[in-house]
Amino acid sequence: MIVLWVMALALAVAGRGRRQDAYWESWVLANVVLGVALAVYTFDWQLSPLMAATLPNGLLILGFALRWRAAREFSDRPAPAWLVWTPLLAFLVAVAPWASVSYALAFTFANALLAALAGATAWEFWRDRGDGLPSRYALVVAYGAMAASFAWRIAQGLLDTGSMSGHLPQDTALAVHLTIGVFHTVASSAFALSLAYERGNAALRHAASHDALTGLLNRGAFETALRAALAEAPRRPFALALFDIDHFKQVNDRHGHAVGDEALRSCARVCREQAGKAGIAARVGGEEFAVILHDIDRGGAHEAVERIRRAVAATSVKAGSEHLRVTVSGGVCHSDAAPRDFDALMRLADAGLYEAKNKGRNRIARMAA
Ligand code: GH3
Ligand code: MG
Ligand code: MG
Repeated sequence: MIVLWVMALALAVAGRGRRQDAYWESWVLANVVLGVALAVYTFDWQLSPLMAATLPNGLLILGFALRWRAAREFSDRPAPAWLVWTPLLAFLVAVAPWASVSYALAFTFANALLAALAGATAWEFWRDRGDGLPSRYALVVAYGAMAASFAWRIAQGLLDTGSMSGHLPQDTALAVHLTIGVFHTVASSAFALSLAYERGNAALRHAASHDALTGLLNRGAFETALRAALAEAPRRPFALALFDIDHFKQVNDRHGHAVGDEALRSCARVCREQAGKAGIAARVGGEEFAVILHDIDRGGAHEAVERIRRAVAATSVKAGSEHLRVTVSGGVCHSDAAPRDFDALMRLADAGLYEAKNKGRNRIARMAA
């Protein structure tokens, strides 16, 4: 119980200044409710049979429903209020009339709901594992273990009705359950904090290497990628292409900056799709893009870059009720070109771009060494 409240405090402190994140509130609230539930279990013996069966179990159900809501909010999924309250209401409606008759019924029903809620929360953390944040797995174990422990108590409630005298049985099963509960409480709160921290870090890392408008790699990340490609070049030939949108100033002047931005996003999408999984696409300037194509010979590179140019020209951008098209000019060079260093390669591709512009735009110039 003390652990729960300390964790609630820690989560409240962590959530300070991040009020927009509703999930912090749900975490804190859940821990406070669970803390109260445990406090009430302690005074279980002084309660009437009806209260002993419904109050602490009901609070526990509400606490785990709030934990589930927090997990949903963490992954930006809706967690409607009616769903949060439904388990508690279902428990009260189904159990209250029988609670004073059969404690075992309340016990079994409560543990079934708790197992379902803890299991659903484990699933919420598991399903987004594609983001690669390691604390997710600890949370899945923490909630999975709790769900298993609750599920085991369903069996106890069904088989052991005789020993349930109207209050929570103080037996070995309870001791084991509480031990798992303590592990769950510490692990779920600690790893909820570290998961939020890991996600914040990942977002910062992403922002530092990506362009906010188009989602492509930014110039810094592109330079790193090009240097890495150069280091591998003897074994793994690659092509470098630089593109610049033609007469882009006119797009902004005629249609406004917002349409210009849309054209940039559309151009970026084409570059990313055409570069494919193995390729790298980056926004290296205002309306300039770079693409690195791996494992490709000179002929293949020229074809691929031509394909990108044609795809951009064939893509229409919505400008109010109109649709407009933009074209790009590009320069392409190959890692076979000598000298094989960063600046020389960039100069070469840039010279190709300049030539394509001079020759009338909407074309690619291929640069040999
Ligand atoms: P050229 O065919 O010679 O490349 O002509 P251009 O008009 O494209 O060339 P210029 O370099 O003069 O214009 C680039 C324009 O790109 C100028 C700038 O306002 C615009 N631009 C740069 N970044 C952004 C952006 O993030 N959004 C929008 N909408 N426009 C941008
Ligand atoms: Mg330009
Ligand atoms: Mg331009």
